Amino acid sequence: MQKVTVSKNERKYHVWQCVKRRDYARPHGKPVSDACGLWQVKSSKYAKPSRKVQANCIGFGCDRRPRLNPDDLKIYTFDDLETALQFADDMNRGDA
Ligand SMILES: [Zn+2]
Repeated sequence: MQKVTVSKNERKYHVWQCVKRRDYARPHGKPVSDACGLWQVKSSKYAKPSRKVQANCIGFGCDRRPRLNPDDLKIYTFDDLETALQFADDMNRGDA
């Protein structure tokens, strides 16, 4: 695999939603838990969301750890954290 080297300044911010996906995504034989639906921000060195990016859901009572595979999830990518957080906030309020 190709090694990617980037500085911390070049991080991207992926805004993703915790949603239930197809059943193949079974974490170590455990049943697939219900998704909380929260939009949240994942900082990553990868410019594009991919299976390599693993997020941790911060939703209340939710401990899902989905991989940010753009085939499964709707993901929006931003260059700066402020904008990403604002967008996630708007989505959670339902204004977007
Ligand atoms: Zn969740």
